[in-house]
Amino acid sequence: MSTDLTAAFASEAAALDAGDPLAPHRDAFVGAETPLLYFDGNSLGRPPRATADRLARFVTEEWGGRLIRGWDESWMQLPFAIGDRIGALALGAAPGQTVIGDSTTVLLYKLLRAALDAQMARDPERVEIVVGRDDFPTDRYLVEGIAAERGARVVWVEVDTARGVDATLLRAAVGPRTAVVLLSHVSYRSGFLADGPELTRIAQDAGGFVLWDLCHSAGSVPVELDAWGVDLAVGCTYKYLNGGPGSPAFAYVAARHQDALVQPVQGWMGAADVFSMGPEYRPAAGMRRFLSGTPPVLGMIAMQDTLDLLETAGIAAVRRKSVALTEFALRVSDGILAPLGVRVASPRDAAERGGHVTLSHPAMRAVTARLWTRDVLPDYRDPGGLRIGLSPLSTSFAEVLTGLGAVADALRAEI
Ligand SMILES: *Cc1c(COP(=O)(O)O)cnc(C)c1O
Repeated sequence: MSTDLTAAFASEAAALDAGDPLAPHRDAFVGAETPLLYFDGNSLGRPPRATADRLARFVTEEWGGRLIRGWDESWMQLPFAIGDRIGALALGAAPGQTVIGDSTTVLLYKLLRAALDAQMARDPERVEIVVGRDDFPTDRYLVEGIAAERGARVVWVEVDTARGVDATLLRAAVGPRTAVVLLSHVSYRSGFLADGPELTRIAQDAGGFVLWDLCHSAGSVPVELDAWGVDLAVGCTYKYLNGGPGSPAFAYVAARHQDALVQPVQGWMGAADVFSMGPEYRPAAGMRRFLSGTPPVLGMIAMQDTLDLLETAGIAAVRRKSVALTEFALRVSDGILAPLGVRVASPRDAAERGGHVTLSHPAMRAVTARLWTRDVLPDYRDPGGLRIGLSPLSTSFAEVLTGLGAVADALRAEI
């Protein structure tokens, strides 16, 4: 690489960091002071420093001090209180529609089944579940399992793996037999950002329910669930919301549907009167019916620190920085990686791109392994895709440049 080019990118990175209103937030994260370069905040976000204290205080003061009284005093309400906060800060959801529950996989199962059952009861011809062929594995496996369980049919939307399901493809896939459309807002592989309001309208105009998987958008790309008229949504909290490994997911059910949908995992925590211990299950009113068992309280403590940061920064500013980070990563890639044979496997148009970019080359699996031993942490997805996840609150422009320089070095060593 020419030294002119390197110097130009270095001064550009310095200017971008100097002008970045979110730059000070980076120091709020554990590890910001080390030379480690982190590009996988879209798989497992860094912990905020405040979280270490929060967890320790919870163990000694709340768990240790309040013991069983903690449930009545606050823990029973926590799934709803944190859910509402995520709804307000990241999802454009009015209170009473978002709850923290089980894993993403389990919540997707519960909502997909509830929606399919409601549709088949209303119209026995509505037996089709529409899903992208390249969606995240858990989404595809769930759809296949539920279709087999309920006698429904899967309609696969064939996609370009450098993009995802768009309006043209969806229009061709839906029709009078559509029951539910399951869509990824940001594709886990390519970073393709779907048109939320447009795809919601297409699914609903065909008479289907839309269920959005928000795993790669929540906390990174603004979502307006109420304004778009979305029916259902589920998303992860351990990616851009930094809830920690395996922290429980959130579910959104539009207020208009809550009392008509019944989910299949009928546990005591979703019952109308939790402590009556009655002879039979009657689902609670509102969002409680989408819960099943005892809420994973420890798992939902950590994400509150990132929600505090998100409240200070605002999701619009987070998105602005996210776009600037991915634009810069693409410029650097075009400058120093394209000459080594690297191809961009993400949309070029920022309006169609979420918070990560995928750079492809046949040697990227080996490149990733080499980088991990040097404390440079992107991740790898077949075929040949190096995913550069750029979490706006915890990533600097200088980090992007140094990291992509390390990718170039690793590539030269592999090819
Ligand atoms: C990360 C991710 C999941 C993960 O589901 P878990 O139940 O938390 O393992 C599901 N869907 C998408 C699109 C994801 O990106």
